Amino acid sequence: MLKIMMLAVYSLSPLIPAILFFSAPTGALTKGLNAVAVTFGMVAYVCFCWQFILVSRVKFIERVVGQDRLIRFHLYVALGALACAGLHSSLIPGLKGNGLQASIGQLALNIFIYISIFSAIFLSDFFVTKIPHAKKWRDLLVARIRLDRKWSLYAHRVLALALALACLHIMLAPVQGRALFKGSIFIYWAVAMSVYGYRAFPRKRRLGRRPYRVTEVRPESKDAWTVSLEPASGQASISFAPGQFIYFTPLTGKLQREEHPFSISSSPRENISVTVKSLGDFTSKIGGLERGDYVRVDGPYGRFSYRLVRRGAELVFIAGGIGVTPFLSMLQDLSREAPDRKVILLWGAKHEKDLIRVKEIEALADRLPNLSFYPVLSRETSYSGLRGRIDKNLLVRILGPQPAGGAGDAQREFFICAPPVVIDSVARFLQQLGVAKRKIHFEKFSF
Ligand SMILES: Cc1cc2nc3c(=O)[nH]c(=O)nc-3n(C[C@H](O)[C@H](O)[C@H](O)COP(=O)(O)OP(=O)(O)OC[C@H]3O[C@@H](n4cnc5c(N)ncnc54)[C@H](O)[C@@H]3O)c2cc1C
Repeated sequence: MLKIMMLAVYSLSPLIPAILFFSAPTGALTKGLNAVAVTFGMVAYVCFCWQFILVSRVKFIERVVGQDRLIRFHLYVALGALACAGLHSSLIPGLKGNGLQASIGQLALNIFIYISIFSAIFLSDFFVTKIPHAKKWRDLLVARIRLDRKWSLYAHRVLALALALACLHIMLAPVQGRALFKGSIFIYWAVAMSVYGYRAFPRKRRLGRRPYRVTEVRPESKDAWTVSLEPASGQASISFAPGQFIYFTPLTGKLQREEHPFSISSSPRENISVTVKSLGDFTSKIGGLERGDYVRVDGPYGRFSYRLVRRGAELVFIAGGIGVTPFLSMLQDLSREAPDRKVILLWGAKHEKDLIRVKEIEALADRLPNLSFYPVLSRETSYSGLRGRIDKNLLVRILGPQPAGGAGDAQREFFICAPPVVIDSVARFLQQLGVAKRKIHFEKFSF
C-alpha cells in the first residue's frame, strides 16, 4: 500500500507546477505545440529533482522500496527524463525566448546528456551487463585509461550543477504572472538539494563520528576475507534483518577511503561481519585491514531477507560464488528463529576453494534439520558432488518437477544472489518452470 502511495506521489508530482502554470493567465507558452513542449520540460525537471532524492538513501523510501530497486528505478527515470528534456528542447524553438535563458537551458541539457551517458558506461553495471561483451570492453577501457571510480562519481555530481542551471532556465523564462509556478519550481530544487546535500555532508560526518572498529580480519581462502566490526564509541550496533547490506568505508589504515556495498554475513544477534572476495582494486586489498582500523558503516539497506516474506514458506536459496554471503546471515538467523523451516541451499561456484565457510554451513545443518545443501561446481572435473552450471535440468533435479512447490501457502519463496547474468538466467528458468515472478527475490551485487 505504502509503495503504491509513494508511486502515486511520485507520478503526480509534475502536476503541481503544471497546474500552477496552465491556470494562470494565458500566453504564448500555454498554446499548441508550445504547451506540449513546456509540459515535457516540466516533467523532465521534476524527474531530475526526484533523481537526487532517489539516490539519497532516504530511510523512509528505502525501507519500502529497497535500495537496489531504487537505483534501478533511478536509471530508468534518467532515460525517460532525458527523452522529455530532449523533446522540450526540440519542440520549443518556435518560441521567442531570451537568448541567455535558452542557452542556460541548452547547457543544462547538454550536461545531463553527456554526464548521463558517461555514468551509464562507467559508473553503473546495469546497462553494460545487458549488452553482450560490453562489460568486458568497458572494464578493459577503465583499466587502460586508469579511470578511478571516484572520478566517475565526481563527474556524476556535476549533475547537481545541471539541475541548478535547469532551475535558473525556468526562473528566467519569459512568463508573466506566474509567481506561484516559479515558486514551486524553486521549492522542488531546494528540497532535492537539501535532501541530497544532507546525505553527502552532515550525514556522512555524523556516521564518521560513530565509526566501527575492525576486530578481526579472517582469511577464508586465497582471495576472500571476513572482516568483523564492533561499534568503536560505545554506541549500539545497527540492527539489521539477515540478508541486508551496508556501505563500508575504511577511515584509517592502508585502504583507500572509498565506499563499497557489502552484504552482512553475520547473524543479527552478533556484531557485523562482511565477507569479501577480491574482484578489483579495493576488494583485493581488504585483507590489508588491521585489527583496530576504523570503518564508517552506513546501513542497513535492502529488502533481500527471508523475514520479509510469508512466514512458514519453504525457502529456496540460490547462490553464485560470493553471492552466498546474505545466505550465511539468513541461515544463522533461521537456526535460532525458525530451526524447523524447510530450506534448500543451492550454491554454484567454479572451484571447491570458492566454497568459503562451507564447514559452517555444514555445521548449521545440525541445528537446521530441514536444510538441504547442494554445492555445484562448474570447473572441477574430478569433484564427486554435483557438477555443471545452475540450469533448468539441475533445478528440476533438485527442486523436483514442480519447483514452485504446492498450491497456496505451500508455495516456495526463491532468493537468488549471484552475478547479474546468472540471476537473470536462473530467474528465467524458474519462471519457465512455473514459478511466479513475485516469488523470486534477488540481490544483484552490482548497481
Ligand atoms: C548490494 C550489494 C552487496 C554486495 N555484497 C558483497 C559481498 O557480500 N561480498 C563481496 O565480495 N562483494 C559484494 N558486493 C560487490 C562489491 O561491492 C564489489 O565487488 C566491490 O565494490 C568492487 O570494488 P573493487 O574496487 O574491488 O572492484 P572494481 O573492479 O572497481 O569493480 C568491480 C565491480 O563492482 C562494481 N563496483 C565497484 N565499486 C562499487 C561501489 N562502490 N558500489 C557499487 N558497485 C561497485 C563495479 O561497477 C564493477 O563492476 C556487493 C555489491 C552490492 C551492490
